[in-house]
Amino acid sequence: MIAIYPGSFDPITCGHLDIIQRASRLFDTIIVVVSLNPNKQPLFNAEKRMAQIRESVQDLPNVEVDCFNGLTVTYARMRKAKVLLRGLRVLSDFEKELQMAHTNKTLAEDLETVFLATSTEYGFLSSSLVKEIAQFEGAVDHLVPPHVARDIYQCYVQT
Ligand code: ADP
Repeated sequence: MIAIYPGSFDPITCGHLDIIQRASRLFDTIIVVVSLNPNKQPLFNAEKRMAQIRESVQDLPNVEVDCFNGLTVTYARMRKAKVLLRGLRVLSDFEKELQMAHTNKTLAEDLETVFLATSTEYGFLSSSLVKEIAQFEGAVDHLVPPHVARDIYQCYVQT
């Protein structure tokens, strides 16, 4: 069974990676899809985000990386995916995610949203938090894969 895991991944964090690793044991194929959101000004462009994810999942043979500009349900249909994977951290995620799952159900009846609960150590972690810490030159090495920490360091510290 194919599952897609859409998100901004700006940048990928250890929390995202943990979800991908666990899901890769549950589904035949995981496609991590970098969504292009016109309302958000990203730190990294889509190509860079895909490269960061690819390097993070190189030891997971059933994980692919792609990007898409459009509705997630359209992408799922195109790739014949039956599962839309999302991660849940806190109650505020749940409200937003449930609304999204219900909306997607009205658009694609056969696509099931599956939620994986965050691992306890990553419950607080988000890409925005990482960027906020890095902006003030705090250490993020424990929050993102090493190559991503280097990219962030280049953006914020070496400018
Ligand atoms: P989006 O802008 O689509 O929410 P994100 O990159 O912020 O994109 O998140 C993509 C998915 O990963 C979402 O389902 C989000 O809840 C989940 N996620 C993000 N951080 C974590 C984490 N630390 N633990 C578990 N799930 C997470």
